[in-house]
Amino acid sequence: MFDVVVIGSGPAGYVAAIRASQLGFKTLCIEESVDDNGKTNLGGTCLNVGCIPSKALLDSSHRYYEANKNLSDHGIQIDKLKLDLDLMMSRKDEIVSQLTGGISGLFKANKVESITGRGKVISKNVVEITKPDSSTENIDAKNIIIATGSRPIEINAAPFSKNIVDSTGALSFKKVPKKLGVVGAGIIGLELGSVWSRLGSNVTVLEALEDFLPMADPDISKDSLKEFKKQGLDIQLGSMVTSTKDIKNSVKLLYSKENNEIEMEFDKLIVAVGRSPNSDDILNNDLGVSIKNGLIEVDEYCQTSVSNIWAVGDVVRGPMLAHKGSQEGIMVAERIAEKHAEINYDLVPSVIYTHPEIAWVGKNENELKESGIKYNVGKFPFTANGRALAVSESIGFVKLLSDKKTDAILGVHVFGPAAADIVQQALISMEFGASAEDISLTMFSHPTVSEALHEAALASNNQAIHIGNKK
Ligand code: FAD
Ligand code: NAD
Repeated sequence: MFDVVVIGSGPAGYVAAIRASQLGFKTLCIEESVDDNGKTNLGGTCLNVGCIPSKALLDSSHRYYEANKNLSDHGIQIDKLKLDLDLMMSRKDEIVSQLTGGISGLFKANKVESITGRGKVISKNVVEITKPDSSTENIDAKNIIIATGSRPIEINAAPFSKNIVDSTGALSFKKVPKKLGVVGAGIIGLELGSVWSRLGSNVTVLEALEDFLPMADPDISKDSLKEFKKQGLDIQLGSMVTSTKDIKNSVKLLYSKENNEIEMEFDKLIVAVGRSPNSDDILNNDLGVSIKNGLIEVDEYCQTSVSNIWAVGDVVRGPMLAHKGSQEGIMVAERIAEKHAEINYDLVPSVIYTHPEIAWVGKNENELKESGIKYNVGKFPFTANGRALAVSESIGFVKLLSDKKTDAILGVHVFGPAAADIVQQALISMEFGASAEDISLTMFSHPTVSEALHEAALASNNQAIHIGNKK
């Protein structure tokens, strides 16, 4: 009998398992994914085919782009720049193996047991494991945490094939496609579209919606669209793919825009139109746990309607983000231990790792207008920040929104250098209930790009030092 059985070893599952074991529970983690050599792939989407490999390629492609386009501005001339894509890919693969291997080390160090197989909750206290050789084993569990994650959505107009790939396929092209199509101008479309564009692909992004990044602050949507187009991404909004044909070495595609049907041909097509939760055949129906639109229904503590069955990460409501899943994993382990952990779902940070980076936390201007809350805006451009200029990273801004009456910070939105880290500073201060004045009265190291957050806070009360204030 285990105290805690976790199904899935992604950032939600492995973190839940480690924390549960730290709290003194006998813990087992079940993972079904195995590689070609039969070795278990711990770490889920994030470590194997998500956050980590994409960021490795974003960094490598950025360095290549800088060397190709921008280093000469610094007086550095490179005569024969050459791309070794195989080496770039093996660097990425090595980082992935280092981190996934690290999880088994962490499991050993924290006394988490792990087993390879597909887990299914067959009764309140029993998980059935179907092993790679098809044999089954039933495990007794006092508590069960479902952390089975999500998978890419496939659309009828562009079914996956040799040249029509999901994000996983787009992380391991063998050569740089000359013409690359991307369906979906969401986070994956922008990140992976940027990777291949920097490496030399001619990239067209087809987005069904008329609005670009509608979940972001409107200033960020506007400025980033302009910047990405300038970088060479041909972003077509209001464009719906209607059919595709994978011919030997290319893909023919039809899309409709403003009542016109347009044909394009690409060497490769990435379909990145969102992800769907892995909830099929995870729980016996008679348990009474409800699943809506594929998401396992849970309360704010990730508890299902069966009190000892919990679910965390991409398989439950909320943004499909690694840090959100991990924090839920910690919360659930602590709640099983009868501690009072909780999550502030109003402060989940979002980051898009383009260049410049996009990041935000809290409410954006559209949301504040809709809710009728009166607010101040403090906006500071990186063109007025000394460090940003010194490192040639002066595109973008920090925008801070604060309550007109109380001065409490309601949202911080950054397009520019170190956006994720600046937003993290804002998030910590918001968790502690900071006002814009609190940030204004805090000392920031000089010269840093974080000073733009200081100035945005000052600007929200018309006290900016390095730009003009509203009259
Ligand atoms: P997953 O990571 O999907 O893990 C679930 C695990 O459960 C998998 O290993 C799966 O094999 C296993 N499993 C499923 N069913 C069973 C079963 N029945 N029995 C046993 N095992 C099972 N998020 C960020 O926060 N930052 C990023 O930069 C970022 N970049 C991304 C880039 C890409 C290209 C992609 C695709 C995603 C990215 N994400 C990012 C999202 C992030 O990867 C997910 O939000 C995160 O991995 C979800 O964690 P999870 O543990 O819920 O599920
Ligand atoms: P997404 O939801 O971010 O974007 C999908 C886009 O595709 C949307 O703009 C949508 O309007 C568009 N779309 C949907 N159907 C379409 C169609 N038929 N034709 C054209 N466009 C269509 O999804 P994603 O980019 O696939 O990413 C999936 C999830 O993975 C994200 O929601 C995010 O949570 C996670 N992720 C996070 C990061 C990060 O944190 N940096 C990076 C990558 C992925």
